[in-house]
Amino acid sequence: MINLHLHTVRCNHATGTVAQMAAAAHAAGLREIGFAEHGPLPQPIDDWRLDLLDLPLYQAEIEAARSEFPDMPIRFGLELDYLPQFRDFYADLHRVAPFDFLIISVHYIGDWNFDWDRYIDGYNHRDIDDIYRSYYALVREAIEHRVGDIVGHLDLPKRFGHRPSDAIREEVERTLEVIARAGLVLELNTAGLLEKVQEVYPEDWIVRRALEMGIPFTLGTDAHDPANVDTGLEWAVRYLHELGVREVVTFERRQMKTVALEPEWKAAKLST
Ligand SMILES: [Zn+2]
Ligand SMILES: [Zn+2]
Repeated sequence: MINLHLHTVRCNHATGTVAQMAAAAHAAGLREIGFAEHGPLPQPIDDWRLDLLDLPLYQAEIEAARSEFPDMPIRFGLELDYLPQFRDFYADLHRVAPFDFLIISVHYIGDWNFDWDRYIDGYNHRDIDDIYRSYYALVREAIEHRVGDIVGHLDLPKRFGHRPSDAIREEVERTLEVIARAGLVLELNTAGLLEKVQEVYPEDWIVRRALEMGIPFTLGTDAHDPANVDTGLEWAVRYLHELGVREVVTFERRQMKTVALEPEWKAAKLST
């Protein structure tokens, strides 16, 4: 099966190099993978992302892994953080390297990095629905600015268990409409299975609504450690299959390609 959301030591908060992550993916029987390192920003605002100067090294590591595992397509991507003050930067970044895909993620509301447990206290000083309203507005803005191809972990503010009221469904609907109109893809991200929230992103009703609207899905584990390279993937494949999905999508040089969903796919046991 495919997994288009892998991190490496290049973001300063993951374990495993490109080579180690690719080897773990290959050993687990993944058919195709994509590296989505936290993308650089034009000004330093934190220390947990790829440095722009290291982009050629990251690209070279991916090319080396492609030579090592010719039977497993390896896609070259980034997970881009949308921040409104940098809205003109992304189009320039797209042109500096031959990316296969770019994930749009929102991890910041203003200067608050809301998905990091170090800053979890921020949830105590804000209205939870207001957090979600600001969050979805940023996601829509990122899509309108064409920041990328895939919308990552769509309902991320739930990470530590903070749930919105039903009033926020309308925000989600509007966001899905923007995704559908822009022809973008949603990621079924399994990282939440390992987190406090104990479920995938986005949650079940959002997945079903997106499918009704014809939005395609891709798959990602958001692994920050080779040991988690395929965590939740078997479950995710079965789940989508039960919802009637027969194809997911991948990207090559920013062109969408469909891949058959493999409901019988099982990860090979990793030797540790
Ligand atoms: Zn992310
Ligand atoms: Zn990620």
